[in-house]
Amino acid sequence: MSDDCLFCAISTGGKPADIVYQDEWVTAFWDIQPIAPVHILIIPNKHIHSVNEITEEDGPILAHILFVARDLARQHDVHEDGYRLMTNIGKNGMQTVFHLHFHLIGGRRLMGRMVS
Ligand code: AMP
Ligand code: ZN
Repeated sequence: MSDDCLFCAISTGGKPADIVYQDEWVTAFWDIQPIAPVHILIIPNKHIHSVNEITEEDGPILAHILFVARDLARQHDVHEDGYRLMTNIGKNGMQTVFHLHFHLIGGRRLMGRMVS
């Protein structure tokens, strides 16, 4: 938990969000500015700044995030048509919230090689 971190506050219930899944390790909630019909953010409950700060001990959490993403994609019916799972890192990656999060984006054809 980091003071002044929006996503820490969401994971602990201090700030509202439209939460779709939560367990002891992760929280998933709808992105407030969705770019596709399905746009869910999946975060570790533990405060991690970005991929740059992950450690070996975070391995189980990171694997768990992938399993949750897989399950949410299925639950929101985008698993067959496909979707994108991505994380932005730092300034050039256009990261705007500095608590590790994975965007699960689907429900439409995502043009280009990446989201711009
Ligand atoms: P990034 O630019 O990769 O750091 O992504 C941050 C994402 O967080 C953006 O897609 C924002 O729309 C989203 N976001 C910011 N504030 C909130 C919030 N209070 N609830 C849900 N999503 C948010
Ligand atoms: Zn945080």
